[in-house]
Amino acid sequence: MRWGKKNCAMAADLLTIPTMSKKTKSSVAKKAKSAGPKYQRILLKVSGEGLGTRGELGIDGEAIRRIAAEIVAVRGLGVDVAVVVGGGNFIRGTTLASQARIQEATAHYMGMLATVINALALQDVLEDLGQPTRVQSSIAIHSACENFIRRRCIRHLEKGRVVILAAGTGRPFVTTDTAAALASVEIGADILFKATKVDGVYTADPVKDKNAKFLAKLSYNQVIDQRLKVMDVSAVDMCQRHGVPIKVFNLMTPGNMRKAVLGQNVGTTIGD
Ligand code: UDP
Repeated sequence: MRWGKKNCAMAADLLTIPTMSKKTKSSVAKKAKSAGPKYQRILLKVSGEGLGTRGELGIDGEAIRRIAAEIVAVRGLGVDVAVVVGGGNFIRGTTLASQARIQEATAHYMGMLATVINALALQDVLEDLGQPTRVQSSIAIHSACENFIRRRCIRHLEKGRVVILAAGTGRPFVTTDTAAALASVEIGADILFKATKVDGVYTADPVKDKNAKFLAKLSYNQVIDQRLKVMDVSAVDMCQRHGVPIKVFNLMTPGNMRKAVLGQNVGTTIGD
């Protein structure tokens, strides 16, 4: 399936920013046209929370469609996109293990399977928008998706397919943040995009603390030493060791990911 004009229009519709005047829109469009993408290959980490409704189990159709439209818009720039999906909208291993008489390792495997559910949902929504997509899982589930094979994943990306990486690392006791960092290194991503529901990294949780200050730039060490709740420390450490920058941004704001890919001022950048 090829990327068609109709799909571009559908994605553009979904990304319409209602508060912009016509004049602002056209100047933004002109700027975007003149500047090419800053990154050629990105790894997007979307947490389960981003795919669902806060505090509720399951998938929010509108949220997943909005995320798919953001991805499609970025693909329209010719950028390779791999996505690591979380599973927190269904199961988080540590929480489940503490609530039920389920061994922690088992609960983590259940959490990884939850990410496969999200991956399959995102695949269908992306393909509904005309974007060819493959799901590769770190736990073999032959009837539903491919296994993760690094070279095959890269080949899919080169062919313009979005690859959704499911089941985290395939091993318990870590999270999909770590899986995202690992995958970024493995597939040679230029940057790891961590999608959140806030504008970036703050000194405290901006939802709970009105005095929380926004931080536009951070070093890996600042994130690790100050224990800023951006990603798991192991994930940040992996990115630091391999020189993969991290961009934390709000995926709820339409057009944000495209702006980030174009190198515009969006979210918090973590790097050296
Ligand atoms: N998980 C795991 N190994 C991995 C990735 C995930 O065991 O490599 C389990 C873990 O229990 C985690 C759950 O899957 O809580 C869902 O992933 P995560 O919490 O990262 O989802 P998110 O918070 O991003 O929605």
